[in-house]
Amino acid sequence: MSSGRIEPDEYRVKPGTKVDLNRWSTSATDGFDGDKQQGAALLPSLNEQLADLQAMLYAESKHKMLIILQGMDTSGKDGTIKHVFRTINPVGVKVKDFKRPNDIELAHDYLWRVHEHAPRNGRIVIFNRSHYEDVLVVRVNDLVPKNVWERRFEHIRGFEKMLVDEGTTIVKLFLHISKDEQRARLQERLDNPAKHWKFEHGDIAERAHWDAYTDAYEQAIAETSTKSAPWYVIPSDRKWYRNLVISQLLIDKLESLNMTYPEPAIGIENIVIDG
Ligand code: AMP
Ligand code: MG
Repeated sequence: MSSGRIEPDEYRVKPGTKVDLNRWSTSATDGFDGDKQQGAALLPSLNEQLADLQAMLYAESKHKMLIILQGMDTSGKDGTIKHVFRTINPVGVKVKDFKRPNDIELAHDYLWRVHEHAPRNGRIVIFNRSHYEDVLVVRVNDLVPKNVWERRFEHIRGFEKMLVDEGTTIVKLFLHISKDEQRARLQERLDNPAKHWKFEHGDIAERAHWDAYTDAYEQAIAETSTKSAPWYVIPSDRKWYRNLVISQLLIDKLESLNMTYPEPAIGIENIVIDG
C-alpha cells in the first residue's frame, strides 16, 4: 500500500558531505510505489496550496524566494516550471533563463548578469540555469582555466549567503536523471515532430561529456550545499514524482516563513464607496 507521503528533506544534501550522484536515486517514487495515477492525482491540490502561499508572499511583501533549477539537458527544467507553477499568478513570479553569455556579459565578472535578477520582496524568481553554469559548462568545455573556476565556489557561497542574509529564501534543485532516461528523451525529440524544435546538435556533444558533467555537478553541489542555501537532488526520471516533490518542498519552505496577510487599512469598516 502506498502512503502518499512526500518527504522533500530526504533529498537535501547535508552541508560538508561528499556527493556521489550514483548513490542518489533518479527514479524513486517514495510513498507511491510507482503508482503514477495516485501520485499525479495529488498535484492539483499541491498547486492550489502553492498558489495560496504565493498570494500571501505577494501581499505581505516581506520575504522573497529564489529557485535555482539545474540539471543535465532534458532533465525537465522547463517541464518543472510548466507543471509546478501552473496555478501561480504570473504577476508575482519571474522566470529568468541563463543562456550563453553575450559579449557584454563576458566582459564583466560572471555574477554581474545574475544579481540584478534576484527577487525583490514579495516575489518569486526562478533561475532556469544560473551562475552554476560558470562552474559546470565552463569547466567541462574548458572555457576558463581550473584555477579560475575553482575559486568560484567560494564566491558563490558568499553571494548566496548575502542574498539569504538580506531576506531571500534560496531553493536549489538538481533535477537528477539517468543517462538512459536522457537517451529516451533525446530520442523522443528526434521522433516526435512536436518536439523537433527542442533538439539541438549540441545536446549530443554535451551527452558525450556525461561523466565530466557528473563530476562537475558532484563537486559544485558538495561545495555549495550550505545550511542557508541547500541543494536538493530531485529524482527526476518520473516527471510526475519530480513535480510532487518540488511542489511539496516549495510549500514547506513558504509555510516556514509564517506569513500573514497585512492588517487592513485603519477605519476600513466605515468607508462607503459613492454610487
Ligand atoms: P538551453 O537551456 O537548452 O536553452 O541552453 C542554454 C545553453 O546556454 C546551455 O547549453 C548552457 O550550457 C549555456 N550556458 C548557460 N550559461 C552559460 C555560461 N555561463 N557559459 C557558457 N554557456 C552557458
Ligand atoms: Mg537545450
